[in-house]
Amino acid sequence: MSSATINLIYLVAAVMFILALKGLTHPRTAVRANLTAAVGMLIAIIVTLSMAGISLMWIIVGIVIGSIIGAVMAIRTPMTGMPQMVALLNGFGGIASVLVAGGALVMELGGAEIPTSQFLIATAVSGLIGAVTFTGSLVAFGKLQGLISGQSILLPARQLTNASLFIVAVLLSAWMVRSPDSSEWILLLLTIVSLVLGVLLVLPIGGADMPVVIALLNSYSGLAAAATGFVLENNMLIIAGSLVGASGIILTQIMCKAMNRSLTNVLFGVMDAGGGGSVPQDDIYAGKVKSTSPEEVAMLFDTARRVVIVPGYGMAVSQAQHSVRDLANLLGERGIEVEFGIHPVAGRMPGHMNVLLAEADVPYDQLKDLDDINPTFAQTDVVIVIGANDVVNPLARTDPNSPIAGMPILDVDKAGTVVVVKRSLSPGFAGIPNPLFAADNALMMFGDGQAAMRELVAAVKES
Ligand code: NDP
Repeated sequence: MSSATINLIYLVAAVMFILALKGLTHPRTAVRANLTAAVGMLIAIIVTLSMAGISLMWIIVGIVIGSIIGAVMAIRTPMTGMPQMVALLNGFGGIASVLVAGGALVMELGGAEIPTSQFLIATAVSGLIGAVTFTGSLVAFGKLQGLISGQSILLPARQLTNASLFIVAVLLSAWMVRSPDSSEWILLLLTIVSLVLGVLLVLPIGGADMPVVIALLNSYSGLAAAATGFVLENNMLIIAGSLVGASGIILTQIMCKAMNRSLTNVLFGVMDAGGGGSVPQDDIYAGKVKSTSPEEVAMLFDTARRVVIVPGYGMAVSQAQHSVRDLANLLGERGIEVEFGIHPVAGRMPGHMNVLLAEADVPYDQLKDLDDINPTFAQTDVVIVIGANDVVNPLARTDPNSPIAGMPILDVDKAGTVVVVKRSLSPGFAGIPNPLFAADNALMMFGDGQAAMRELVAAVKES
């Protein structure tokens, strides 16, 4: 196949990726978009493998081993473990870029010609960003999986250490470009420094900031792939890597906006997560928490005209989305207006709640985002908060020392009655108490999300 034909087919695949990204912006078109992207990728892979001089044997071995590991991981990972899985896959993307760029360098040095500066710059960038992505993602995985403390781990002089390591990495890259003969060893050194930098960059980030970090690492893995595209002079890899890099940065921006934080603030302005902010838990809850039962909540619906359901991480853990849909349908049949309030960082990954509710066939037009639903809470009779905590925590508005200070929250406390469904008074991801649970208009319905929702559906049917 001529290089013109290959590039033409790559262009077709690139257009499919871009159309897929557009389709992914709406749940209705997302499934088809995913398929479009997958077909585009298949075309790109087949064309790449048909290039002259590629030894298929090792590639097939790699595909078989990788597919088996990938399939086992995907089958075993529960829906709630997806963020960890995404973090790990970002990391694999990063290390793959480092290895491919390193391999290309070794091959290039074995040839007759000295590697060009463009080649060496691309290799250095791939090594730097790929290695940072790899270890950064492993730390993010460890935090989300609970293997490492989810709270900020603050090392002394970390800003200085990180800045110094970054400068060393840049100097090593420059040295590599100037000394092609020693570039193998310099790349090794650069990779080691970048691996350490990746760990140190993500360790201090804790509390509620992980969504931003995951989106950012996703973007880094794309940038590393794009750099590797320049190393291999492969246009498809450059385009696909750039698309991942750009969409990851846009997602990072959306997450920062959702949490009212600037990116620099997330990366360098560490907040004390898990310290409970400045308000002790006992002062908040003592004697003020009222618990309720499914039967009592069913009675609340008798007079309600508008109900909003706010899902959070606990709905995902307990897989309560189907029972939640049953409740919404039941209330709808009784003439009650039902909507869902979806916070952008609810759950543990971007779009987590939308995915679960779409899986349960909740109509898309019932899902309202923060800006649309917040002005309506004052006219809402009952809010059911199912497994959400941080995203409805009024401390974000009132306590400047809290790890979620300034994060826009769903103003459920402004509704007539708020029923909170969770197992206990335990804190959410940010590790802080929630004054909502002790509010005058709040009732706690303790229990596992799914079981509680089933009981509530049964109670409503009987009422
Ligand atoms: P939270 O983590 O704040 O709270 C979840 C609540 O669910 C807990 O308080 C827990 O209480 C409850 N819960 C756990 N298991 C169950 C169960 N089986 N049944 C019922 N309830 C249960 O969740 P939110 O969705 O409100 O907020 C998301 C948080 O995660 C934010 O801080 C966000 O920054 C962070 N985050 C978000 C990511 C994203 O991309 N969306 C990624 C990483 C972090 P109890 O134990 O008492 O049941």
